[in-house]
Amino acid sequence: MMIYDVESIPKKHNTKVIILIILIAVTAIALSVFAAMKLANHLHTSIVKENENTQNQIEEQTEGTTRNTENQTIQEEQNTKGGGEESTQNQAPFTETQLEAINNIYSSKGEKRAFLTFDDGPSTTVTPKILAILKQQNIKATFFVLGTMVKSNPNILKQEYEQGHYIANHSYSHVYKTVYANNNSAFEEYQKTESLIQNALGNSNYHSNVFRFPGGSIGGYYNSIKVEAKKIFKEKGVAYLDWNALTNDADGARTKEDIMKNLKSTTKGKNSIVVLMHDAPNKSLTAETLPDVISYLREQGYTFKNLYDII
Ligand SMILES: [Zn+2]
Repeated sequence: MMIYDVESIPKKHNTKVIILIILIAVTAIALSVFAAMKLANHLHTSIVKENENTQNQIEEQTEGTTRNTENQTIQEEQNTKGGGEESTQNQAPFTETQLEAINNIYSSKGEKRAFLTFDDGPSTTVTPKILAILKQQNIKATFFVLGTMVKSNPNILKQEYEQGHYIANHSYSHVYKTVYANNNSAFEEYQKTESLIQNALGNSNYHSNVFRFPGGSIGGYYNSIKVEAKKIFKEKGVAYLDWNALTNDADGARTKEDIMKNLKSTTKGKNSIVVLMHDAPNKSLTAETLPDVISYLREQGYTFKNLYDII
């Protein structure tokens, strides 16, 4: 039923009533639109908030998963390593005790131990062969890597690490006149290579803390610079390590017999040996002779160790 009977109202009133109805209708529509907008806005805010919450939850969950995976990876890595105190290993700088352990590596308390070390890699040609042999023989070794090689072959470096070998540092360029350009340059090359190792491992907390001077830490044309450089390494808590046995695979050895002859003569009478070998791209003879090197040292009563076992 209508409120007004249009026909019963005089004409001049009729127009007023129509205007009034229109005004009421417009107001009602405006109010409805306003209310609808308010509601929509409220709903939108809720939805956005809810989405944000969900997103946060997802992120937290993802982070949690990542963290778990990281922990698991760390745990797995720790399980593959020989040493027992991984929490302090590969942190910078070394503690006094760790530095001492490296400095005293050549003296062991009666135990015959052999540290196999491979320099100048990682290479695509030789390193994988060496890794396969070491895995088969269940031996953990130490790799003194070059920054230039890590840059080219980061995945091989990662394999070395994942197999439980110790990654140590052997400069960036290995070019004597660059490494020994001044008192600081060896340490600068060390640092450059450390970052490349960190990038390759995807671990910015990894510090090798051990450097091997190209050509050795004593003597040679650049000896006076090496003397100063060693002081810098010492101040920074970074150890340096040479060797006391070798196969001469870098220089004279041309055959398996040469390699074995050099190994036998340089290990004779030594209880704790650090054996210098190379996994540079052209050192296939080293990989070929490695099984013989290992069996000879086993026969002589040596147990194989890497740096994780002593730091
Ligand atoms: Zn070298």
